[in-house]
Amino acid sequence: MLTPAGIESYVAANRDRWLEGYKELVRIPSLSADPARDGELRRAAGLLARHCAAIGLANVRQLEEGGKPTVYAEWLGAPGKPTVLVYAHYDVQPEDPVALWHSPPFEPTERNGRIYARGASDDKATLWIALCAIEAWLKVEGGLPCNMKLFLEGEEETGSPSLAAILMRHKDLLGADFILSADGAMMQDGRPDVMVATRGIAKLEVALKTAAKDLHSGGFGGAVANPISVLSRLVASLHDMNGAVAVAGFYDGVREPTAGQEAELAAVPFDEAKFFAAVGARPGAYEQSRSVLERLWLRPTLEVNGIWGGWTGPGNKTVLPAEANMKITTRLVPGQDPDRVVEAIKAHLQAACPAYATLEFKAMGGGSPAYEVPPAHPALKILDRVLGSVYGTPTVRVRLGGTLPLCALMKQHLGIDTVAMSFSTGDEDYHAPNEFFRLSSFDRGLKAWCGVFPAIADAGADAFAGYRP
Ligand SMILES: [Zn+2]
Repeated sequence: MLTPAGIESYVAANRDRWLEGYKELVRIPSLSADPARDGELRRAAGLLARHCAAIGLANVRQLEEGGKPTVYAEWLGAPGKPTVLVYAHYDVQPEDPVALWHSPPFEPTERNGRIYARGASDDKATLWIALCAIEAWLKVEGGLPCNMKLFLEGEEETGSPSLAAILMRHKDLLGADFILSADGAMMQDGRPDVMVATRGIAKLEVALKTAAKDLHSGGFGGAVANPISVLSRLVASLHDMNGAVAVAGFYDGVREPTAGQEAELAAVPFDEAKFFAAVGARPGAYEQSRSVLERLWLRPTLEVNGIWGGWTGPGNKTVLPAEANMKITTRLVPGQDPDRVVEAIKAHLQAACPAYATLEFKAMGGGSPAYEVPPAHPALKILDRVLGSVYGTPTVRVRLGGTLPLCALMKQHLGIDTVAMSFSTGDEDYHAPNEFFRLSSFDRGLKAWCGVFPAIADAGADAFAGYRP
């Protein structure tokens, strides 16, 4: 590691004080979803802004475009060195259902080497760790080895409604070589991973009608089509007998895994049997010629999330319903365009729909393309080096089956790539009752965040030349 000894001793001397600061931040119920908590959210923003100034960061500001404030700060005293934009979010999910918590959600409580509280893991732990590491460098060395801009978002948990506006308004202020996110999660405790891609998402709602109004099944059944039956046939047509999506054009742009990606998949310790058993499910569905990890990470999906229509209340009602509905989402991989995928699904349903039924499509918005860090991006090598040294074991490359719109938005508006160095672990119940964070991760995180700045400086600004606008 490239961390000077003076910083290591500063970290050791200040660890307990930092833990108290972390708990103070976690005590603030900074919910972005609940307008009644807006004052608390802004109290957290204020605390962070004051803290940034106190540890010696410059140009501390709150950026706001009609939503929740982003706390911005910078240290730009390393001319000629790379500039990293550090991302984190200080808003948290609602604490409901409160009755299921074993200790009050906003009173950080230590049990078995873990701190339990809402936000303890997502994302206040790694946010705070990053600030502690920055403080250590500024106090001991008088500066960071590279340039650093800090972007602490206040509305991640509500889908970042004003993020794009903030990025557009402050494009120049936020310019950097890459984004290092303190948000995210390692798959397993004790094994370092580096996330290189996330799947995208596209959404569609469908209404199928066979009559102008609900009808008596005795008077009209056998003459007028049942929309639930018709819709069911359409649903069944979306996949073929091998479990692949049967929509023409759906796979346009999807590439087969490269040799490098196959090697990355093979390096991930993943037990398929355990994976299914953990959720009470059985294997056998979908493309059996491909591994489960490949299907989760490198293949797109088409999911019917809900289907409704007719009478579902108590007893029976001899109704011939006029309409049946469904909601569809798809998870996309690199090469697919969310709008084109939605159009392909519409065309498939339209072609399969008999003449005695009509389809209506409701655009859902909120689509996001998949995101992939370029395989040779210098930030990946930096993380391999830093995390490998902290954990004493090589990193593995992982992908996220879900979607992080942040990465695609940052790429679109700032033109730069995002990698994550979070010390949350996938099992820490964020977004659920009894969220926790491991104290062992606090210490690993401090080591890694202190070590990442010199590793960035060491990579040199030229390394990023092909990866910034
Ligand atoms: Zn988060």
